[in-house]
Amino acid sequence: MSNKTLAQWSAMADGLQIEARAFIDGEYVAAASGNTRPTINPANGATLAHVASCGPEDADRAIASAKAVFEAGTWANLAPADRKKVMVRWAELIEANAEELALLESLDVGKPISDTLNVDVPSAARTIRWSGEAIDKFYDEVAPTSHDSLALVQRLPLGVVAAIVPWNFPFSTTAWKLAPAIATGNSVILKPASNTPLTAIRLAGLAKQAGLPDGVLQVLPGPGGSLGSHLARHMDVEGLTFTGSTPVGKTLMEYSGQSNLKRTFLELGGKSPNIVFADANLDKAAAMAATAVFYNGGQTCTAGTRLLVERSIHDAFIAKVIEHAKGWMPGNPLDPATSMGPMVDEAQFNTVAEYVRIGLDEGATLAFGGKRVACVDGGHFHEPTIFTGAHNKMRIAQEEIFGPVMTVIPFDTEADAIAIANDSIFGLAGAVWSRDINVAHRVAKAVRVGTMGINNYFGGDMTVPFGGFKQSGNGRDKSMHAFDDYTELKTTWIEFE
Ligand code: NAP
Repeated sequence: MSNKTLAQWSAMADGLQIEARAFIDGEYVAAASGNTRPTINPANGATLAHVASCGPEDADRAIASAKAVFEAGTWANLAPADRKKVMVRWAELIEANAEELALLESLDVGKPISDTLNVDVPSAARTIRWSGEAIDKFYDEVAPTSHDSLALVQRLPLGVVAAIVPWNFPFSTTAWKLAPAIATGNSVILKPASNTPLTAIRLAGLAKQAGLPDGVLQVLPGPGGSLGSHLARHMDVEGLTFTGSTPVGKTLMEYSGQSNLKRTFLELGGKSPNIVFADANLDKAAAMAATAVFYNGGQTCTAGTRLLVERSIHDAFIAKVIEHAKGWMPGNPLDPATSMGPMVDEAQFNTVAEYVRIGLDEGATLAFGGKRVACVDGGHFHEPTIFTGAHNKMRIAQEEIFGPVMTVIPFDTEADAIAIANDSIFGLAGAVWSRDINVAHRVAKAVRVGTMGINNYFGGDMTVPFGGFKQSGNGRDKSMHAFDDYTELKTTWIEFE
């Protein structure tokens, strides 16, 4: 744990050497076109680096390299115990370079340094180590066949996998994709989000240093519309793993159908219900209700943006939540005391501001926040914001805002709470707060989401799968279940003479 001050982090940032090239076939290289795109520090608008902007030509070169190393079996046919060694070394290198990675992520995304250092970077290292450690303990199956036959059910890697990730948790989301895909023997081409490519680029160099063969991991920064769609439509890409918005996820499914039916797994948006019953531990529930929305500036797919509160405690409970919201005022991300940074860019800030306007037009009450905050010149900082007097048909209750905006909806009965919670196109996450074990379990089971907390929000670790129901996606990151997204099941049937 670092105890650097704002001044020390700022000095370290000034001296940072930023690698901004693509990583293809084991080398850092410029885009074939020579094109670059500036990546901007959202806290102050400064240009951090001019990053290689790759296109189809670079993708074709990377895919050829990925395919060649896969077919040679250099990595795919390595004993799982040997793959494990490389992945554990890779995790150790992430830990050894934790401060640099945390700083890069904070500068590129606007995340508070205390989060990138204590959450994002350790979580990425843990993900890579966990998948590496798991892979040599993972047995295939022998089917229960008759006495004169034997059937093996084996998991085989897909081949070349493209991973396309968003900007809100760039480093940890990347690790959730790379760790199971690479552990199972695939060759992966990673396309980071255009506005947050820096830690992904650095991660590739550490993988090489750890001993990952050239071509097994390649990182291509570039635009989703041209580079991303080229990867998603390519006939030699056998798997596509995506985290991002629901509209882009739907397009990627179409690309799969138009090309080679590549296995396509999606982790998409959310509008998660956080349900508080009158008998809950209200102090803890209020603190976590604020954390559930304002952590990472609300730029979190699982954010508990719909706060469903039993009507009998509504006013007193919201007063407590507002007190906690005051602790989430944004600040300079490099200040270790900051809990919330800026919106990732001006477009995202404008989206949030537009939804505040929509909420007011729809007749909701602005109970807290709602405005820009002047923190650091050139940054896009938004107050934590709470709407009360809302109902679930409002756009601020149905649409993903992806900012620090909470919509509070009262309910009267357990059945009411479940019906409101499930009245959403999304099904990613949620939580229920009650001291009654019967209510808590009934509600947790009835709400149609991939992850549900009971008396906590954001619970979970590498041991459990993560993913969505409904239009929140179809894949699962984390745990042994993530291996399903990156492998085919192969049956070999033997008959004895
Ligand atoms: P996005 O616009 O869907 O972009 C995600 C990625 O897809 C970026 O790398 C983007 O590239 C690329 N892309 C865009 N259009 C593409 C296309 N036509 N073909 C191929 N790739 C394309 O999402 P975002 O705004 O970055 O991220 C926010 C969204 O991610 C939210 O909806 C959030 O809920 C979701 N999310 C979900 C999870 C989860 O696990 N369920 C976790 C985190 C975030 P460019 O950057 O170049 O546009």
